[in-house]
Amino acid sequence: MNILIVGAGPTGLTAAVELARRGVIPRVIDKRSGPSELSRAVGIQQRSMDILTPSGVADDIRAEAVRFDGIAFHIGARRIAKFALNYDETSRLYGLPQDRTEHFLARAFARYGGKIEYDTPFEGLTQDDTTLRVRLGGTEAAFDHVIGADGAHSDVRAALGLDFPGFDLPEEWSIADVESPDWRDPETFQGFLLPHGDICIVAPLEQARFRVIASQPDALAALPVPMNVTRIRRSGAFTISVRQVTAYAVGRVYLAGDAAHCHSPAGGRGMNLGIADAADLAGRLIDGDIGGYHAARHAEGAHVLSFSEGLRKAVQSKSPLRRAVMSRVMKLIAAVPPLRRAAVRYFVSG
Ligand SMILES: Cc1cc2nc3c(=O)[nH]c(=O)nc-3n(C[C@H](O)[C@H](O)[C@H](O)COP(=O)(O)OP(=O)(O)OC[C@H]3O[C@@H](n4cnc5c(N)ncnc54)[C@H](O)[C@@H]3O)c2cc1C
Repeated sequence: MNILIVGAGPTGLTAAVELARRGVIPRVIDKRSGPSELSRAVGIQQRSMDILTPSGVADDIRAEAVRFDGIAFHIGARRIAKFALNYDETSRLYGLPQDRTEHFLARAFARYGGKIEYDTPFEGLTQDDTTLRVRLGGTEAAFDHVIGADGAHSDVRAALGLDFPGFDLPEEWSIADVESPDWRDPETFQGFLLPHGDICIVAPLEQARFRVIASQPDALAALPVPMNVTRIRRSGAFTISVRQVTAYAVGRVYLAGDAAHCHSPAGGRGMNLGIADAADLAGRLIDGDIGGYHAARHAEGAHVLSFSEGLRKAVQSKSPLRRAVMSRVMKLIAAVPPLRRAAVRYFVSG
């Protein structure tokens, strides 16, 4: 089977590893000149770890990642509840910068004999009942299947002429990756609800390194508690789109990851959803069961978009009354073990 994967992000690399470990080495191209150094996604769910276990990538991640010990919510600087994690396999959440996850995936792909072709852009495709031809890096080649894992601005999706319906959020969010030697609760994922529906999040990245994200232009200025920042490794701004493609498959071309869906970082699902798309797609290609790919993954994508938007809207509520109610409900949930476990399951793996 002759398969092309466009995009060497976490989605494309997972598809590559999952195909290669079953004996099909795909061609993987990326228009970048080399591996990304961006630390975008941090949270890795247990479900992704399960997918990445047979290839050994989960072991690599586990050896380097922070295992979050809990999720804490605050109104302003005041902590209202902390939900402990790690009491069973559904309540684990790992933190690792995305470039390290990609590094481990690329290393596993190389172990199976695969190679990533950088500086090789996808430039277009044509397909009919018998042939599928792709223009890439100034040349043309034929493939049996093509996987478009080329991110939110997917050229493969554009070549298929597919709509990407949804909306863009108006505000600009900010991000800072920082070093802080004495940050409180250094293994806890912490959310701070700020006035006027704003939000700030601190996620552990590794020992004494943290990701701060806010729905305001300056993530560090938005943090309502003091943080002793000794170094800012990276800071920037990003906007959020909430969109899902209308078809995950056209002929023998398939979309996966951000090429098929994008949403806010609320709930930290984006990369995990792409990893799950990729594993499902690779399994179906190997098993010759590709027909159900769109139905299965479109439904899962719609579920995650709705979960992530529901969470974002809840934490960004501007109503003081809703915030007061949310604070009481969270305290109640945190105090009652079965409710607490259900909430953790919903947040971490639901
Ligand atoms: C600030 C921030 C925080 C986030 N936090 C989390 C989190 O905690 N948890 C989580 O699960 N997700 C998170 N996400 C989302 C996550 O980063 C994305 O969902 C993830 O990167 C998607 O992976 P992908 O492989 O589908 O696409 P990408 O990572 O975008 O990779 C696409 C690849 O395709 C390549 N490409 C594009 N066009 C072409 C072309 N024409 N030819 C060849 N190659 C091409 C690109 O160079 C790129 O390497 C976050 C995102 C942001 C911005």
